[in-house]
Amino acid sequence: MSGFSTRAIHDGQPFDPRTGAVVPPVFLTSTFVQTEVGGFRDGYEYARGGNPSRDQLQEQLASLEGGTHAYAFGSGLAAEDSLLRAILRPGDHILMSNDVYGGTHRLVDRMWVPWGVELSTTDFTDLDAVRAAMRPTTKVLWVETPSNPLMKITDLAALAELGHAAGAVVVADNTFASPFLQQPLSLGADVVVHSTTKYVGGHSDLLGGAVVTADEELAERVHFVQFAVGAVNSPFDAWLTTRSLKTLAVRMERHSSNAQAIAEALVGHPALEAVHYPGLPTHPGHEIAARQMSGFGGMVSFQVRGGAEAALQVVQRTELFQLAESLGGVESLVCYPSEMTHASVKGTELAVPTNLVRLSVGIEDAADLVADVEAALRG
Ligand SMILES: *Cc1c(COP(=O)(O)O)cnc(C)c1O
Repeated sequence: MSGFSTRAIHDGQPFDPRTGAVVPPVFLTSTFVQTEVGGFRDGYEYARGGNPSRDQLQEQLASLEGGTHAYAFGSGLAAEDSLLRAILRPGDHILMSNDVYGGTHRLVDRMWVPWGVELSTTDFTDLDAVRAAMRPTTKVLWVETPSNPLMKITDLAALAELGHAAGAVVVADNTFASPFLQQPLSLGADVVVHSTTKYVGGHSDLLGGAVVTADEELAERVHFVQFAVGAVNSPFDAWLTTRSLKTLAVRMERHSSNAQAIAEALVGHPALEAVHYPGLPTHPGHEIAARQMSGFGGMVSFQVRGGAEAALQVVQRTELFQLAESLGGVESLVCYPSEMTHASVKGTELAVPTNLVRLSVGIEDAADLVADVEAALRG
């Protein structure tokens, strides 16, 4: 098999056979002309069921995650919901790590629990805790590593072993790492989900999600949900995402080196209580991350001395780091998770520290980014 970037640029990306256009066109069409009733060209009938732009993205994503099938949805949460529809039935239990993306927890807690699914959470960095929290009805282990926003690292191979021994489906949200830095399927996970809105898209200009697996039977069920429910990625967003994936490797290398520079500059800073970045040798998950990832990614969080008020001032004062939700774009962003990305889990066991600031480190020049954060901490 050829290397990651070669596949990113060529898999699912044939030149246009009619004109020779190097970049496949975007197929902005909802339906396809039939040669006779049921005579579909290349299988295309109606765009909810299939559109070439979406198919090209799906082929590219399956290749990059080391899966056999990928399905692209309208958002990360649409992908997650469609995957859960393919797996869960009333009475089933889903066990999640206790610092998943707030919207993921809200989806299960507010949409699935009322339909009879049981949800509990625990610290997935502690595999004994995971074992203790599993039930005979546990159908899904749902993990995010690195996690959002505390950058905790879970040992994916060990978790997969534990899940499989109990007959559970192991789902890894690979949004933070991206397939360039980590391929959970190769470590034993059954399914990968993505918010392609983030690093995969990489330019803060699209919304999307994906499910990737190498399990034929599960793929079949997810495919049916995608078709029957229709929470599909739009052709234009799919096309933008295929464009973005071609530069994923170089973007992730720069995101990682910039984040490392910022984390190292912030360690021991008198205005901070803690810096969370798996690339720091002092990070509790550093060794596992070094083993299962090929780089440590672009997300850094830190806790400010002086509590919520001090943290709120820091996020007001950065200039290059713009205050916004989301992450993974080429431009740096800062966020205050407890009132922004994680507002939906306030007051629950998933609540995040109120003095926490999260950085999505972009691909600008490292020295400028370090100077911006240092100036914001000086006040
Ligand atoms: C943003 C995000 C999601 C949700 O994705 P949307 O595209 O916003 O629906 C899920 N998981 C993680 C880790 C995220 O950062």
